[in-house]
Amino acid sequence: MAKTGESRGATAQAMEEKTEARLRELFEKMPYPASIFLFTDEGRNEPFNQAAREVLQILRRVSPKLQFKEYDLGHEQARKWNIRTSPTLLFDPERYKIRWLGAPIGEETKTLIIALQMLGYRSTNLSEDSRGILKKITSSRDIKVFVSPTCPYCPQQAINALNAALERPDLISLEIIDIQVNPDLARKYGAQSVPQVFANEKLMAMGAQPEELFMSSLEKMEEQRIYIPESDAVEVEADLVIVGGGPAGLTAGIYAARSGLKAVIVEKGILGGQIATTPMVENYPGITQVGGKALVDIMVEHALQYSKIFPGEEVMEIQPGDPILVATNRRRFKTRAVLLATGARYRNLGAPGEARFSGHGVSYCSTCDGPLFSGKKVIIVGGGDSAVTEALNLRNINVDIILVHRRDSLRAQDHLLKSLEANQTPVLFNTEVQEIRGDREVKEVVLSNTKTGEKKTLPVDGVFVAIGYDPEVGLAKKLGVELTPDGYIRHDSRHRTNVHGIYAAGDVEGGYKQIVIAAAKGSEAALAIFEDLINPYWKKKV
Ligand code: NAP
Repeated sequence: MAKTGESRGATAQAMEEKTEARLRELFEKMPYPASIFLFTDEGRNEPFNQAAREVLQILRRVSPKLQFKEYDLGHEQARKWNIRTSPTLLFDPERYKIRWLGAPIGEETKTLIIALQMLGYRSTNLSEDSRGILKKITSSRDIKVFVSPTCPYCPQQAINALNAALERPDLISLEIIDIQVNPDLARKYGAQSVPQVFANEKLMAMGAQPEELFMSSLEKMEEQRIYIPESDAVEVEADLVIVGGGPAGLTAGIYAARSGLKAVIVEKGILGGQIATTPMVENYPGITQVGGKALVDIMVEHALQYSKIFPGEEVMEIQPGDPILVATNRRRFKTRAVLLATGARYRNLGAPGEARFSGHGVSYCSTCDGPLFSGKKVIIVGGGDSAVTEALNLRNINVDIILVHRRDSLRAQDHLLKSLEANQTPVLFNTEVQEIRGDREVKEVVLSNTKTGEKKTLPVDGVFVAIGYDPEVGLAKKLGVELTPDGYIRHDSRHRTNVHGIYAAGDVEGGYKQIVIAAAKGSEAALAIFEDLINPYWKKKV
């Protein structure tokens, strides 16, 4: 026993040393120091004050270029910069107007590291188009980005905002607000999902946006959904373009490159797809228990050893032919084959009130938004593995939950059901949500019994919807790829679709939806594509 403990301790220490060595490398070549002021008020949010302190102390240890000072909220520096909340981080305040209300922990640590690099290089790595859009801004923009440490979508939006504030310090100010530390501010803005971005007090975007869309929303002061590049797109040649950075796409990237193909992965949203927001994964072979986002990070790191990944890029068009042309919002790929690993997106309930309260009490991601409902009452709708996993996660963070399911039994895995039972989670069977009501936020739901037709109103603070996923087939449809009657991509045993050179892998093909299965399909498709590209099948058809 002691030996196992000792070896675990040694492993943890080795990992810590590896992380510190990597960080040292990141900051080593910075030409300028990056300075941060931490403001705290003893006794107010003390665990978060301490967490912020600890993160900063680790960073200070790895590089003398990272300079931190801590002040009490009563200090004149706090008055000078008008600091009111604890903890607050101020970034190089003589040069920029950027502050962080909360502790940069969890997912947010990555955002902090990128911010420090930007400060140390005094530059952003924005695209030419984004710079051009920001140049057009002629009046001030005060940005607020609401985030949570467990939200995998948040760093992308926080980094967009940081880039904007660093690029135009003359006009753009930024507050990154952690909803867990500042629930009152989140309530004031009605921000009950993360990330949410406000500019000059106006809601500008919910969810993460690709960089150019963020910048053009900021310029126009209204959420933009389509971005048409202003400059000529860069052209990249590849053997295989993989659309989608979930387990199928990432695994395909590894296998294709190992076979000798030049493969690239393009992902419009967050890498990892659905797993990135899965609270806990307990059935991926070889790893007994791992947070969904942590598993994604491992997969991404592995895939990056083999294939280039283009995150935050949306594939706008695919033109079949030889070569196949793939246009994203940033570049054009000339490729021999395309693998559609576009996965699936969460299903909507369709009840009145759902769309109106989305982001204001209606949520599809307990990992992201759960912390805001700690100590509050919510319902979770659904009866499958997702609903039960979300229920267990919310129970774990002290949310008072009731599971609402339209049938008389749940269809989740036995292991999950046993955990649910052990938690004594209340379940309303044979119940449908008729309506979600409230004013600015959700206040109650109207439920109806599917057997008796009886209706009742239940006061709640939130509604988590976990009723399954629909395949993402927008691109496939545009391309003329045939679908099955259930709406999945029709494919043969080698993952080929009816369009020459276009393949499919993962959840978008239908079948069991498990991470290990998606990964397996990705590897199988990559191997089949490799064989097709070198054998007569290919030459015959082209
Ligand atoms: P799912 O298995 O399709 O279950 C969806 C649930 O929502 C069902 O209980 C369904 O009810 C209900 N539902 C569907 N539409 C509804 C509506 N309009 N109103 C009310 N209820 C509705 O979806 P999921 O739970 O999201 O899981 C998706 C896939 O991911 C599954 O293959 C699952 O096994 C997998 N997954 C696995 C894990 C794990 O292995 N730990 C975790 C999460 C997800 P009915 O029963 O009446 O159809």
